[in-house]
Amino acid sequence: MPELPEVETIARGLAKRVSGDVVESVWLGQKPEPLKSPASEIAATLERSRIAAVRRIGKHIVFELEANGARRATLPAKRTTSRSTAKAQWIVHLGMTGRLQVCEPQAEVLKHTHAILKLASGRELRFVDPRRFGRLSVARSGDFNAGGVEPLEVQLDQFVSLFHGRKTPIKSALLNQKLLRGVGNIYADESLFRSGIRPRRRAASISREQLRRLFLSVKEVLREAIALGGSSVSDYVDADGEEGFFQLRHRVYGREGEPCLVCKTPIKRVVIAGRSSHYCPKCQE
Ligand SMILES: [Zn+2]
Repeated sequence: MPELPEVETIARGLAKRVSGDVVESVWLGQKPEPLKSPASEIAATLERSRIAAVRRIGKHIVFELEANGARRATLPAKRTTSRSTAKAQWIVHLGMTGRLQVCEPQAEVLKHTHAILKLASGRELRFVDPRRFGRLSVARSGDFNAGGVEPLEVQLDQFVSLFHGRKTPIKSALLNQKLLRGVGNIYADESLFRSGIRPRRRAASISREQLRRLFLSVKEVLREAIALGGSSVSDYVDADGEEGFFQLRHRVYGREGEPCLVCKTPIKRVVIAGRSSHYCPKCQE
């Protein structure tokens, strides 16, 4: 499943390729699962809209849309003025295997293609998702809220307060999307290792100084991974349709039984809230 750094990389790639382009028409497939908003609403919001920007919010890719003039003609005159600057958003969650492809119209339409946007530039933007855990939706007033706070923007005091009084293991708290949005399993394990905290520690029992180290580690790990272009472990591709990711060297994640890179103690794996957690029993306490 793509994590925050991968989604950031994909959003940046898309921003370069499709910002400024206009959606001329939209085709949506028959499978109901990928459509979180009604098909008619998705099509009506996208068609004739200009893609002003593409950015990441949590693990969502958000296309900022500007309603195009062509639509105004169909609306009553009174609403024309407010509508002319109308903002809307197209929100894509890639789920496990979702991909966004920018391609020429003659490119073969892959099996499991659920949406095709024809762009004024002549290219197409396609959403392909074999396992159908991905989701497409629109926010017609442009006020999409993913919940939680952005881990790369959160300030120390706010970060510390997120964990105040929480009896859950710190690992579960890090994965709780209502607290921090977009920190997934790999980066949670790596951040805990770098800050010397065991994943099973109760969040409330961690000192402010340790939380400060965790705060720095979360940002450091995410920024390193973004700099490397995400660290994919599954089958998705960047916005060009190329295999585009480099692997961040994981220090604990997926290294059960292998020697710790710092102290050579074998890395342990435990299951917390149904998710694998990896840690060094000597370096983390
Ligand atoms: Zn160690």
